Amino acid sequence: KADDEDAKTPAADPTDPTDPDPDATTHAFQAETRRLLDIVTNSLYTDKEVFVRELVSNASDALEKCRHAHLAKGEDPGELVVAIDVDDEKRTFTISDNGLGMTADELRENLGTIARSGSKAFVDSMKDKDAEGNKDASASASSTAATNIIGKFGVGFYSSFMVSDVVDVYSSVGDGVGNKWSSAGDGTFALSKCEVGEGDGKAPKRGTKIVLHVKEKDKTIAASKWAVESTLKKYSAFVGFPVLLNGKKT
Ligand code: ADP
Ligand code: MG
Repeated sequence: KADDEDAKTPAADPTDPTDPDPDATTHAFQAETRRLLDIVTNSLYTDKEVFVRELVSNASDALEKCRHAHLAKGEDPGELVVAIDVDDEKRTFTISDNGLGMTADELRENLGTIARSGSKAFVDSMKDKDAEGNKDASASASSTAATNIIGKFGVGFYSSFMVSDVVDVYSSVGDGVGNKWSSAGDGTFALSKCEVGEGDGKAPKRGTKIVLHVKEKDKTIAASKWAVESTLKKYSAFVGFPVLLNGKKT
């Protein structure tokens, strides 16, 4: 459970007109998640491009769930797609799906705690390393053992922090309400409402849009079209839904 019961403090200064989220609330990550993020952001892990596979797989899961939910009710879910947009000038990697989306509570639960069994196993195995006498997460993260563990388990959504300064998640379950989750991968994340529709700072009408603000040093793997294209070929060739890259089918 996220240790954020004292979370109702504003994340930002509402009197500051340059602050984009005056109504945001700050929430602390669950201790295990914080630990995982610390390892992910400080590790010298080389196969950083696996974040593409993780985000595409989450988008595909959300589309699959959406398809099932609609078919169960005898409704047509419409065309279900994953759309990736990379912008090397803005240094962003954006992935959108029109799947089932997340409410504010779901964003807090799913992206604030470790639900994923693989990530749990990862943190547990790092704990075992600690038990063997290594007390420092960053030090153990830079070891070969840690990088192998990341490779073996995958770290799901949190792998986006391997290449990002800030990650913004915009989501809606299709009820006209947009929710924004934002974090720099440090101890906290912010939650706020946002508009629904097309364009920057908005949630899809139904589904999720994740914007990675790519680290300067990672722009060639995460914010360049050719690199993302080859990563998609390598890791996401068999996704059950169309994947668009900058508007074109891959
Ligand atoms: P896993 O996919 O193994 O559950 P992740 O860390 O990749 O773990 O994702 C955590 C959770 O966040 C998912 O289980 C899902 O509930 C939610 N999630 C992530 N991405 C999306 C998305 N695009 N749409 C809806 N839910 C998502
Ligand atoms: Mg996943």
